[in-house]
Amino acid sequence: MSILLHACCGPCAMYPVDMLLNEGRKLDLFWYNPNIHPEFEWNRRLENLHKCADHYGVKLIEGQDECMQEYWEEKTYLAEFGSRCEMCYDIRLDEVARYAAQNGYESFCTTLLVSPYQQHELIVKTAKSKAEQYGVNFEYYDFRPGFRQGQNMARDIGLYRQKYCGCIFSLEESDFKEKILKSFEDQA
Ligand code: SF4
Repeated sequence: MSILLHACCGPCAMYPVDMLLNEGRKLDLFWYNPNIHPEFEWNRRLENLHKCADHYGVKLIEGQDECMQEYWEEKTYLAEFGSRCEMCYDIRLDEVARYAAQNGYESFCTTLLVSPYQQHELIVKTAKSKAEQYGVNFEYYDFRPGFRQGQNMARDIGLYRQKYCGCIFSLEESDFKEKILKSFEDQA
């Protein structure tokens, strides 16, 4: 039986995958990140997650094929959720739990739990709620102690390491916005 490990990007997947494999666990990676904007960035993060999966020889399942710019622009989260991040976690973990339940996985987890910059407790709360809703186990791991190690591992194998969380708001707020926008132009 294996664990479905939702992955937000290659660098954040490095330490959790390494750790779980060292524990002798079987896992599949699962890409479902419609929050990421713009499409160029969405493709770039997926491409680098493939490099991580290839590095470890694990399967990567692509659970969706588009970013959701219009959804963000309509700001529907204001009506339904307390914050944009609450909506973002809900949308992603809903699909992870649903897929895990419907495809016979023992449990699910997410690499979002490696980042000290994410709202860890909110992610856990959302994942537990989705696990209950779909009747599948959420396996909690606090991967955060391995965050720096994972980033170094990503650098060592040449992965792209992004400088904003993923949505259009985080891009606008990034201290590196101009540099990021230039990277889009340079590679267009
Ligand atoms: S800041 Fe990150 S977690 Fe929050 S909404 Fe944007 S992409 Fe999602």
